[in-house]
Amino acid sequence: MAEKPYDRLDGVIWYDGRLVPWGDATLHVLSHGLHYASAVFEGERAYGGEIFKCTEHSERLKRSAQVLDFDIPYSVAEIDAAKRLVLEKNGQKDAYVRPVAWRGSEMMGVSAQNNKIHLAIATWQWPSYFDPVQRLKGIRLDLADYRRPDPKTAPARAKAAGLYMICTISKHIAERKGYADAMMLDWQGRVAECTGANIFFINDGKIHTPIADCFLDGITRQTAIELAKKRGIEVIERRIMPDELTQFSECFITGSAAEVTAVSEILRVLHHRQRGRGHGGVRDRALEIHARRHHPATHGRLHRRGAAQGQEEGGLIRRRGSVDWDTRWRADAHDCGACAAIIASPMRTRRAPRPSAPTLCAVTRAPSSRRCSSSASVSGSLSPALRQSSTSRARCARLNSSMTRRAG
Ligand code: PMP
Repeated sequence: MAEKPYDRLDGVIWYDGRLVPWGDATLHVLSHGLHYASAVFEGERAYGGEIFKCTEHSERLKRSAQVLDFDIPYSVAEIDAAKRLVLEKNGQKDAYVRPVAWRGSEMMGVSAQNNKIHLAIATWQWPSYFDPVQRLKGIRLDLADYRRPDPKTAPARAKAAGLYMICTISKHIAERKGYADAMMLDWQGRVAECTGANIFFINDGKIHTPIADCFLDGITRQTAIELAKKRGIEVIERRIMPDELTQFSECFITGSAAEVTAVSEILRVLHHRQRGRGHGGVRDRALEIHARRHHPATHGRLHRRGAAQGQEEGGLIRRRGSVDWDTRWRADAHDCGACAAIIASPMRTRRAPRPSAPTLCAVTRAPSSRRCSSSASVSGSLSPALRQSSTSRARCARLNSSMTRRAG
């Protein structure tokens, strides 16, 4: 986190074709981009003076603008040159690079046919996106309430400012609860990505990652896939349902800012059951019974949430006659440790020993009830001792260094 606010940093910013002092890079309050989110941007990193995948980022910036129906009045080569110039003038070798393009002030309404298109490029020092201490241990993820939208609802694959509204809300909620970030599902309830990074899982030496058809197919994601394949590691891009998470042994996320970061835990993972098939499995029952017996307050809330969700989704699911997964049984670890222990499905390391009886509730540290221990592996896996192995963190460090070696 910068000590000064970002508008008070020192240096120069490239603004519509010329370098201006940092504090002079301003825009009018009646800018279309501010009111109607007609803005696109990039996040890039320079390592040792070279911008990682510089041209790919400039190309994506241009493509994102076209998706929002505007053309950035600079070529990819001009944008590349401008980014390098800012870095040089700011005397930075390792830095974050932020190009942003937006519609100006000529028209102020939904329509903005004649608005000038602006482009600015700033660079600053940003050593770690996540708290370095958390990052060393592997970050903890919450589960976001918001979902990545259907690509027919929003231009999901553009790096457009408007798409980050739900990301900021979700990340704030996660941070308030002590998590580093939030994992988001897609509009159909499948695992999608994080608020500013793509997500990967490992099982049996194979990498699994969601198909990037309704969220950003990150440049770091593509690089990680390419590197893994070159090393003979199988990468499976597929639909991943949240209830599969317990089967994975490792998890990491990728992004220009996040780089490659190991995930130690995904909390508040949903308890899922298929609609139209009556009650689900043991964990469904365990949560229900446990909540009813021991936690009337939480039970009430679960029911209220469940009812609302059911009403909202039920019709749609019935109409389509398709199978979906519901998010009916949610609990918050901070509200009810025992219930959360039943439904939480953090990453588990295969080498870690299974907890011997009596199983301790991961959150309350009290011995779990028989209901709790019916999902002993799940509650036990919350124990800090069982969190992600150093193997995974070392793997992420290696991947980061392969990428930074390839910068440019
Ligand atoms: N998803 C989202 C929502 C992002 O903001 C980012 C960061 N740009 C990514 C994925 C990863 O993209 P990249 O690797 O290109 O930075």
